Amino acid sequence: MAMKFKFWGVRGSIPTPGPRTVKYGGNTTCIEVNNASNDLLILDAGTGIFALAQTLSGQSPIVAHIVITHTHWDHIQGLPFFLPLLSPQNQIHLYGGLDPVTQLGIERALTVQLQYSYFPIIEAQVKARVHYHTLRPGEPIQIGSTTITPIVLNHPVLNFGYRLEDSDGSSLFFTGDYETPSNPYSADDPDYASNQQFIDAKLFEVHATMQGVDALIVDSSYTDAEYAKKAGWGHNTYGGALELARQVHAKKLFLTHHEPTRDDRELETIFQNVLTKAGAVDFEVYLAREGIEHILR
Ligand SMILES: [Zn+2]
Ligand SMILES: [Zn+2]
Repeated sequence: MAMKFKFWGVRGSIPTPGPRTVKYGGNTTCIEVNNASNDLLILDAGTGIFALAQTLSGQSPIVAHIVITHTHWDHIQGLPFFLPLLSPQNQIHLYGGLDPVTQLGIERALTVQLQYSYFPIIEAQVKARVHYHTLRPGEPIQIGSTTITPIVLNHPVLNFGYRLEDSDGSSLFFTGDYETPSNPYSADDPDYASNQQFIDAKLFEVHATMQGVDALIVDSSYTDAEYAKKAGWGHNTYGGALELARQVHAKKLFLTHHEPTRDDRELETIFQNVLTKAGAVDFEVYLAREGIEHILR
């Protein structure tokens, strides 16, 4: 069985349910991946994970591997609503990076949310066996037939992008939230060259990890005009995502992390404009849409 994935949440920042977003969906980031060894992998635990959990009811025991890009709310908010956490026969593996400020591993994502002031269930009521795995950049881990390689991507907090490579050679890369790094110095500044060298080295490493991927799923929050006002907020543009896919020779590009202000029609208008502006590209481009499954190869 080839690796396949399904979007359960494609929205950035805050859930946006309602008639304006019914086509592309209003849940925040969550992607389900099924690999050749039939493991359940989940990339990020935004509000979309709740609907995913509904599909698992009646199954027992459940073994789930939840891989977190970073702990901004829109990527972890659904975690306490992942109902398999409540049953003792289930095993939940949670993967993520070490926060450089607090020095806490990914256990912080649940600990912070399961405080009595914020959630009715306390950590002691989580009956599933929860295993926390702290990942280090560039050090791959193996889950069944899938090798997962984390790489640090530019965002205001530690954010791992992940390459998933299956034993059959199929692959996907998910950025989580990512802003293409840019040099803060002007070209005539004495610090410009050393900064550019650092950025170029980092981009080389990032592109190498994404190279030739079957599906590249990229934070594409902004139009160029919006980005002019939001540079440094940690998100990419549609144009930036297309350029990235071109540079790394991705086969399919999925634009995601849709702005909460965008309705379905605006999203499609922007998408058409972006494709027209880009001209001919040698990869397929899609708007990520909640509920749609994609099979690799
Ligand atoms: Zn986000
Ligand atoms: Zn973020």
